[in-house]
This record gives sequence, C-alpha cells and structure tokens, in this order.
Amino acid sequence: MRRDVTTTVRLKLHSLTERKARLIEREYSAFQDGVHGDDANLYSATKQQARKVQSNKNPRSDTEQPIVLRNDCITIEHDEDTVLSSWWFKLPVYNPEKEQGDSIWVPVHVLEKDTHLLSDEYICDSELVLRDGEWYVHLVCERSVAVADEYDDVLAVDMGAKWIAVSTFLSDRDTSFHGAEVRHVREHYKQLRKSIGKAKVRSGAQVIERLGDKESRTVEHELHQVANELVARARERNAVIVFGDMTGLRFDNDEGRYVNDKTHKMPYAKMANILTYKSHLDGRECIPIEEYDTSVTCWRCGSQNTSRDVQGRVECEDCGLDDNADKNGASNIGQRAVGKDIQSPLSTAGAVVAQPETQVVLEGPSGEMEPANSPNPADVGLTLSEGSPRR
Ligand SMILES: [Zn+2]
Repeated sequence: MRRDVTTTVRLKLHSLTERKARLIEREYSAFQDGVHGDDANLYSATKQQARKVQSNKNPRSDTEQPIVLRNDCITIEHDEDTVLSSWWFKLPVYNPEKEQGDSIWVPVHVLEKDTHLLSDEYICDSELVLRDGEWYVHLVCERSVAVADEYDDVLAVDMGAKWIAVSTFLSDRDTSFHGAEVRHVREHYKQLRKSIGKAKVRSGAQVIERLGDKESRTVEHELHQVANELVARARERNAVIVFGDMTGLRFDNDEGRYVNDKTHKMPYAKMANILTYKSHLDGRECIPIEEYDTSVTCWRCGSQNTSRDVQGRVECEDCGLDDNADKNGASNIGQRAVGKDIQSPLSTAGAVVAQPETQVVLEGPSGEMEPANSPNPADVGLTLSEGSPRR
C-alpha cells in the first residue's frame, strides 16, 4: 500500500544584506495591504495570491498573513562552492527602483534530514513567514511512501483522556503512558490567559500573539515526542497503529445535547495528524477507529454496566473487572480495530457496532481471509485489506 505524506520543511533565511532585507520587509508589508483589500505594489504572481487569501480567508485587519508564493516563481538550489551558505532560495519580490517584479537569491539554513525533500516534484506550497523577527520559508512537501500490509500486533492509542496518549498492545495489553497529563497542558493555558489579561491593553494583541505562538510550539514539541515514542513502540513489535477517533459527537443525557468529550481539551487533530504521518514515514499503517463508548465498555466482557467512580479506574459490575480506565479504553479501541464486537450482548437489540471503515482481517489457517475474532492476534499474522482507508 502507498500513502501520501505531507510535511512542512522550514528554511531559515540568514545573512541577509541590508538591501535584500529591505526588499523582503517591503514585500511583506505590501502583502498585508494586499490581503486587506488595499492596492499594493507586489510581484505580480504574489499579488494574485494576496487576492486569493483575501477572498478565501478574509483575514482580520489585526492579523498578519504569510506571503503565499507561487511555485513557479521560486527556486531552491544547493551550492557547495559558496562560502556564505550551501543552500539558496530564489524569492520573488517587487523592486521599487525598477518599478517591476524582480527576484533575489537569499541564503537559507536547511536541516540535514529535510534535504532530500527539496525537489520540485515534492514541493506543493510555499510561504514566507515572519516569526519572532526572523524570516522563514515554509515549504509544504508531499510524497508517496510505502506502508506494510502485514503486521504482528496492534498498538491501540487512546488520546487525551488523562494523558496525551495511552497505548496498549492488543496481544498482551502491555501499556505505556505518554507525554504530560492533559490537565497540566490545560492549566498552563489558563495561567497564560490570566497573565495576558493583566497586560496593558495597548500591547495585549501583541502579547497574545507572542505567547500564543511560543506556547503552541511548546505543546507541538510535546506532541511530536509522544508520536515518536508511539511509532518506536509499534516498530518493536511490527504493530499497526490504531487510534481513537474522537471527532465524533456523543449525546450527553445530563447536558441534553451532543458534546465532544475531548477535542476541546487538547489539540487532538494536530496529534492525530503528526502520529499519522510519522507512522506512514516509518512504513506503518495508522488508522482512526471510532471511539464512542470505548471508555464506558468493559474490554473483557463487553458490558457497559460499568462505573468510573474511583479516579482513573473502571469497574465492571458484570465480570468484576477493576482496571485502569485509560488502559481499558485503549484495549477497546484495539479490539474494535480488528473487528471484535465490543458491545455487550445485553445491550439493546439494534445497537450494533459498525465495522471500522478500514477493516483489519486475519489470515486464516487455510490461507483464506476471515474477520478477526481471534482473542490472540499475535499468534497469527495480521493483514490489512486495502478497503477504504480514511486519511
Ligand atoms: Zn466486564
């Protein structure tokens, strides 16, 4: 199987001459005018992009937008012989002296791990970004990678309940807890908002922007680390990764409305995205599994006659299970992934669990494909059918 992987490569501009710095600043400032509907002198292709940003996003006047560059106007080149930099980026700008579009070559830093991506066939989008007073070019690169279709185990990931992620192997329920506790992330955000509230009104927007940016990078770093741990763990056992997809809504009887349990507590979409592409880069499939009911269902007997009165525990009234709540949730996600029905037989008729969209199947002893209901999938090789995978 092949999967498209999209990653953003960040090039940092450095050693700019005064002239080049001035041209870039002028272009950036003119682009801000352009996206807010004012007439501005810009490189012609960039002017079109400014109009697009205005009509697609209609950005607020107090925000700054990165310059969107058109792909056919940029070039990135490697040049070993240059003393100043081994990588150069050709940036389109308007030149007020010539009163027309121009291009300038600027030196850029490229991380060694990203160099293989700097080819025209991979680059989809590029933007010039100003962050903390430094210039960056962000290149969105997309390429197709091969992922395996046979695995020896399933690593099930439950995100954002108490921890950023909890992972459990389906075969033996070996469990790990990853990253900080979600409540710490939330408390940190709260503190931050308070401190911004006290800041002077005049500089408030700037403070929010600066802190928000810094904070979001700290959280993002944490998410990357968690994803790295999960992928490394899956690799140890040649496991496919499945994770609870919590974008769905649940009807809360107490609240009398549909609620989303977790997505408001942590950047779930970002975590899912990072985990998916890192897994694909590792040649490993990574599949979202609908998460509804996985926290209230007993992983051992499938009953929903459970209670979570004790902090962090789940107790089953039917079979007597007393288990870590996150571990229980992750186990259910893993079981749902291989098609095992986690609904209690006692549950109302008609409340049938739908099969995951991407079905994981086991290869039967006779070589035939059959639905996976084996209690011990580690005994048999797991095979993923192409099906209709979700991305
Ligand atoms: Zn039970």
